[in-house]
Amino acid sequence: MKAIFTLLFLFSFKFLMLSQNVSVLNTKNGSVQIQPILHGSLVLTYQNTTIYIDPYGGEKNYENIKSPDIILITDIHRDHLDETTLDSIDTSKTIFITPQAVYDQISEKYKSKITVLNNGQGVHRFDIFIEALPMYNLPENPPSKKHPKGRGNGYILTIDNAKIYISGDTEDIIEMRNLQNIDVAFVCMNLPYTMTIEQAASAVLAFQPKIVYPYHYRGSDGFSNIEAFKKMVNDQNKNIEVRLSDWYPKG
Ligand code: ZN
Repeated sequence: MKAIFTLLFLFSFKFLMLSQNVSVLNTKNGSVQIQPILHGSLVLTYQNTTIYIDPYGGEKNYENIKSPDIILITDIHRDHLDETTLDSIDTSKTIFITPQAVYDQISEKYKSKITVLNNGQGVHRFDIFIEALPMYNLPENPPSKKHPKGRGNGYILTIDNAKIYISGDTEDIIEMRNLQNIDVAFVCMNLPYTMTIEQAASAVLAFQPKIVYPYHYRGSDGFSNIEAFKKMVNDQNKNIEVRLSDWYPKG
């Protein structure tokens, strides 16, 4: 009887995991849970550490998820710096990592929680190395008004032996194309804000992550064609796993 309950519990747990869009990356000493949330927001969990990236879209999106130990924010726009959502999350014990521009713009009450990282800087928190990378639109000169170089951060998180890259809002910049040894990449693709699926595929084929998630793919004219992106990548390189997740559960 006990075995049946255990089995039912495990089954429902698995269902819960699947229904919440969660996947798992095995690392040397454990595993990282990857949970796409909405648009440019995701949650990563390693052992007891929970990391929110760009929490956005309201408290419902995070209500069944442990409060964050770390929040990373990439840029100042409302789909990345969403104070209504931040206010609905328990951040009493949270460390924030943001670029200077976010620090300057965010409400006073959050400033004491923030460690500012700018492009090229890195920091260790909870045994995780967090490195800030450039993210920007092209051409670099004259600088784009949407995303000028130096304002926002992409990030690389080194968790155990795994490297996870979060592009932020960027075009296919040289700093992304030159990345090495990336296990999982989250790459944006929406117009007119970031890049086309062709640019994104070209960049991904250049830096060859083991796994890539198209994310941040809702543009002014609807969704980018992420199936076509997957085909473009896999026609050239079958070894890159393209994971298509539902980043817009409410349409
Ligand atoms: Zn954005």
